[in-house]
Amino acid sequence: MTEIGHYISGARTAGTSGNTQPVYNPATGDVAAEVALASRSEVDAAVAAAKEAFPDWSGQTPLKRARVLSRFKTILWERMAELAEAISAEHGKTHEDALGEVTRGLEVVEFAVGIPTHLQGDFSANVGSGVDSYSVRSPLGVVAGITPFNFPAMVPMWMFPVALACGNTFVLKPSERDPSASLLIAEWLTEAGLPDGVFNVVQGGKEAVDALLENPDVRAISFVGSTPIAKYIHRTGTANGKRVQALGGAKNHAVIMPDADLDMAANALMGAAFGSAGERCMAVSVAVPVTDAVADALIEKLVPKIEALKIGPSTDSASEMGPLVTKEHLEKVRGLIGRGEEEGAQIVVDGRDFRQDKQGFENGYYIGGTLIDRVEPEMDVWKEEIFGPVLSMVRRASYQEAVDLIHAHNYANGTAIFTRDGDAGRRFAQDIEVGMVGVNVPIPVPMAFHSFGGWKDSIFSDHAMHGMEGVRFYTRIKTTTMRWPTGVRTDAEFSMPTLG
Ligand code: NAD
Repeated sequence: MTEIGHYISGARTAGTSGNTQPVYNPATGDVAAEVALASRSEVDAAVAAAKEAFPDWSGQTPLKRARVLSRFKTILWERMAELAEAISAEHGKTHEDALGEVTRGLEVVEFAVGIPTHLQGDFSANVGSGVDSYSVRSPLGVVAGITPFNFPAMVPMWMFPVALACGNTFVLKPSERDPSASLLIAEWLTEAGLPDGVFNVVQGGKEAVDALLENPDVRAISFVGSTPIAKYIHRTGTANGKRVQALGGAKNHAVIMPDADLDMAANALMGAAFGSAGERCMAVSVAVPVTDAVADALIEKLVPKIEALKIGPSTDSASEMGPLVTKEHLEKVRGLIGRGEEEGAQIVVDGRDFRQDKQGFENGYYIGGTLIDRVEPEMDVWKEEIFGPVLSMVRRASYQEAVDLIHAHNYANGTAIFTRDGDAGRRFAQDIEVGMVGVNVPIPVPMAFHSFGGWKDSIFSDHAMHGMEGVRFYTRIKTTTMRWPTGVRTDAEFSMPTLG
């Protein structure tokens, strides 16, 4: 059985802890490999390698660091299909979807290549007579990334391109459910000319995460995953004196106004609810049609589309939706649909009935698309993040009722409104207390030069990810005030200097 190990000091290294965990092929249900689970001492070795690499890497000019990332970007463009295949094999998402993930990550590398401009400081001449002042941004040191299963390449790429470009060195702890993409990325960074130790990967679970949280040489932690773990990472990391950004779960609502283009809205909902089998933090999981007439018309359009979804393995280019990531997750999603039924919601299309009959894939973790109508805020099916191909519908009678519903949820990652009315769209974008907003755009994931992050229980941080927020997170500001000898006084001053 293949064992997936770590990447430390510019080379793949086998795990030494003796602990491993199976990695499944979700399309077939087979065990594809075992992943090593790092012990504390293995994590400490990766952090030590990153610490040793820091003085030289941070001392290089931003332009030189950008050139390494530029070469990495070229490699990524050329080998995108190979990375996408590695993602699909362990995650289950379709090849096209995996290609889309790599492209969105690559865009952050493109942003990071502009680091000489992003790091430009401020200069003020003559803040006092003969005195000038300037501010620059310095890297933090060793920083770590802890990432979820659902985007094994894109989410790490929200983090390390900006962190490295700013002059930090990095330790990545990817999800133990789909660990292989991280090793390809590490190898390609080395091939692009990244010095050994600047980027390291440790595989593992809680023990590895706790070792990162407690290692005093780790200066900052970027986390993306579920909200309970995000809270834990933020609480523990900040208590240990680290800078922490921790992004959590989501429940994204799409409001469909009576004047919306319903065909456009139905197609948008299909992609946003069922793409990647709903395992996206920006998936639309709740449709909020305004008025019953809109709800009924939408259902009529959605049902045949959901029933026609092509569900199969990523190796079949006809597949529109793959399996869920693990058997446990499949059971959780099935359980939540059942809970909705018990709570009195109406299951319009039941994905639990789906059976995969393609030969060799009968034991994969497949479920069909599900539509649940007449969901209400008291129900668990509304409160909980399902993270599967399940679209709930909460009917509301007015725009304000729809807004109030969204504001009642603890999560506030993304949201969207479908309307032809510019005033309603603009008002929604201004009113809504959610971090990322789409107007006739179902999955409003910001481009790399903007920043990604929700509000409320979807983020525990003062900084969102990538874009200039990423630059601010991975640097600290230093302001120098200087006076040259002509202005030096011979006698000491004991009152607060005013520089004038
Ligand atoms: P998860 O929270 O289970 O795992 C995320 C990371 O935390 C993994 O690396 C995992 O090894 C580690 N981890 C898990 N349990 C831990 C523990 N007890 N102690 C310490 N570390 C632990 O999340 P997941 O299931 O991999 O990913 C899905 C979740 O991620 C969903 O909730 C989804 O909304 C969220 N997500 C959020 C965003 C966002 O930008 N807000 C993006 C992608 C995914």
